[in-house]
Amino acid sequence: MLYPWQNADWRRLNGERARQPGAWLFTGAAGIGKLEFAEHLAQSLLCEDPQPEHQPCGRCQACRWFASGTHPDFRRLSPLTDEDEEGKEAKTSRKLPQIKIEAVREVIDFAHLTAHRAGQRVILVEPAESLNLSAANALLKILEEPPETVLFLLVAHAPQRLLPTIRSRCRQFALRRPARAEALAWLESRGVANAELELAHNGGVPLFDHDPELTRLRNQFVKALGQPGFAGMLQLAELVDKQKLSLLLPLDWLQKWLLDLAGLRLSGTIRYYPDQERALSALGARCDLPLLMQCQQAVTALAPFAQHTLNTRLQLEAVLMDYLRIFTGRKAG
Ligand SMILES: [Zn+2]
Repeated sequence: MLYPWQNADWRRLNGERARQPGAWLFTGAAGIGKLEFAEHLAQSLLCEDPQPEHQPCGRCQACRWFASGTHPDFRRLSPLTDEDEEGKEAKTSRKLPQIKIEAVREVIDFAHLTAHRAGQRVILVEPAESLNLSAANALLKILEEPPETVLFLLVAHAPQRLLPTIRSRCRQFALRRPARAEALAWLESRGVANAELELAHNGGVPLFDHDPELTRLRNQFVKALGQPGFAGMLQLAELVDKQKLSLLLPLDWLQKWLLDLAGLRLSGTIRYYPDQERALSALGARCDLPLLMQCQQAVTALAPFAQHTLNTRLQLEAVLMDYLRIFTGRKAG
């Protein structure tokens, strides 16, 4: 399935079909539908009755197999296929989801088999950043000499985190993000409540979790940021800890809040939390800009380790104390 904002990218991709590489690397922001785009490409290559513009027919045996996840010439390599990782849990859990070498070996065996159907076989790797080092090295070997009838589709939100040797073996294809109006129209057509606000909270990308529990937590978190105080910050860290949330989420909420504070101070614009304009304006007037930048750097530095951390609460407390300092101008606590 393609999203409405992907039609232009689809035509651009079709223009390259005549000289298709052995591996594509689809890049772009998280939440714009890269995975669905890559899946659509896979289906279109396996479809036995392709339609105009290389659209899959949706009716043939291959399309039916694809839809039910049982096409014999298609493999998906993603951390969620591990038995111990369950879809939803993996998103918020503290365990770092990885694609491991055993899974790569399995698809390499698959790549060397003969195709069941017309000849083309497709292997989807998503997100490619979750390949651990030995898995990445194993994949690299087959990317260097891919069997002729096998096409690899890699999807990455952060291609700079991939091994450079893997990147260089793929042809990169950057997917564009939808314009605000396109994203909004799509969310509204899906009946999403508070579409405008949700789109802002999610940085303008339309595909995000509609988890009411997370929304409630985020609102609580943001409200507390709007009334910075020592006790409140400690309670916030405790709250996040109790919910067993990955540190990634609160760091993301805080990062966006800091960007809005800075944006308001520097250019009078609010991007992520337009509903918090009053609180942001009040805080913006009394914040120390250099300390704000320092806090942003602390959050950015912590983010790559957010899923490994053994002590979410302690880490979050430390960064919230940095946040507090923006308004008190001195080391809190
Ligand atoms: Zn078909």
